[in-house]
Amino acid sequence: MKYFFFIFCCCFSFGSMAQNMYQERALKNISYLIRDSILLEQIKIDDQGISIYASSENKKKDIAELLITWDDVPIFLTHVVKENKKNITTEKIIRERQNVHQNFSLVEKEKPTSLKGVRIVLDPGHFAHNFKTAILERKFIKIHKKETGTKKDIEFFESDLAWKTAIILAKRLENKGAEVLITRKKGKSALGYSFLKWKNKLFKKELQKDLENKSINQEQYNWYLQKATDKDIYRYMNKKDLIERAQKINSFRPQLTINIHYNASGSSLNSEGYFSPTASNYCMAFVGGGFMKGELNSKEARLHFLRLLLSNDLEQSIHFSDEIIKAHTEIIKVPHIPNKNNLFYLNKNSVYTNIEGVYCRNLALTRMVQGVICFGESLLQDNINEAVLLSQKNYKESKIKTSNRVKLVVDAYEQGILNYIEN
Ligand SMILES: [Zn+2]
Repeated sequence: MKYFFFIFCCCFSFGSMAQNMYQERALKNISYLIRDSILLEQIKIDDQGISIYASSENKKKDIAELLITWDDVPIFLTHVVKENKKNITTEKIIRERQNVHQNFSLVEKEKPTSLKGVRIVLDPGHFAHNFKTAILERKFIKIHKKETGTKKDIEFFESDLAWKTAIILAKRLENKGAEVLITRKKGKSALGYSFLKWKNKLFKKELQKDLENKSINQEQYNWYLQKATDKDIYRYMNKKDLIERAQKINSFRPQLTINIHYNASGSSLNSEGYFSPTASNYCMAFVGGGFMKGELNSKEARLHFLRLLLSNDLEQSIHFSDEIIKAHTEIIKVPHIPNKNNLFYLNKNSVYTNIEGVYCRNLALTRMVQGVICFGESLLQDNINEAVLLSQKNYKESKIKTSNRVKLVVDAYEQGILNYIEN
């Protein structure tokens, strides 16, 4: 008798706690997750739980793809998302409920309190292995010497800066006891190849696979084989690279992930192939969310959306990114992007988090990577002073020769990580 009473109490208190906690969280997170309110036509949040629909028509007909009651959220988060069960149904969740000892502390990832043993992923953006491929990748800086007053033209590329940042930062974090994974090697994509090697060895095989699993149709397949330029093939490879990065990161189960990027103002190339430098400079960071029209069209996207809505990943990612941005402004002395700005990708494709410099944006990696993430954009490479400083090799650490500005970016990430862990 005593035994039954105990179980009853547990279930009862767990039920109301789960409802309060997850419902509150979902209602708070929904504003970060949705950039276009049309997506609300695919979601229902009420006292019972959350329902997601494959289309707005299905919502009108009340045909939910998935109904997760508040009590079942821990089951969804532990047993569905973590194991990537894309064929999950409401019935399976209910069946799972019988097998699982419900304990929601299990899915509330706790913030680490020291760097010892913390698993951290450093994901250096892009993968060009030289300046020529960086042009294909469209992630390079080339500024005429007459603009900068230097002896030579300024030339460097983002993939190289990002990789050097990752190597130096990794060593420092490892020295403090962290376990670090870097998602790619120098000049190689996460797929293990440079662009040219991949193109020669794997491009046709990947196309064939995509044709077989119907990711592309025969017409697209033929177009890629006969008409695609290197730039088109690069873009195709880039998508594969991002998926590989996400898989590598998720299977490492990191507590923290940093995507390392250096930004540019987006000015266009002149006819001689040079960018004009800008006087402005700013840093920013992205976390998940900011889904736009059409971005809940696949089941995979809807599962990522639900994970972001119901877990504490988003809240912790915003907190983490806040610390990273603060450390950037203090150490590198680059200001965060002002809240009022005219950047299209912030005003139209992102949601402001109310934390300076931190935005929700539905990038491939901020969507696919589970856990706490900061997608950092440390500075503007084409800022006129920054460009000159970044092109210098006046700093050496961990056998890497680079610019003193890269050293400061490493300092900022390191300090940001420590502040996050300690606060
Ligand atoms: Zn980048």
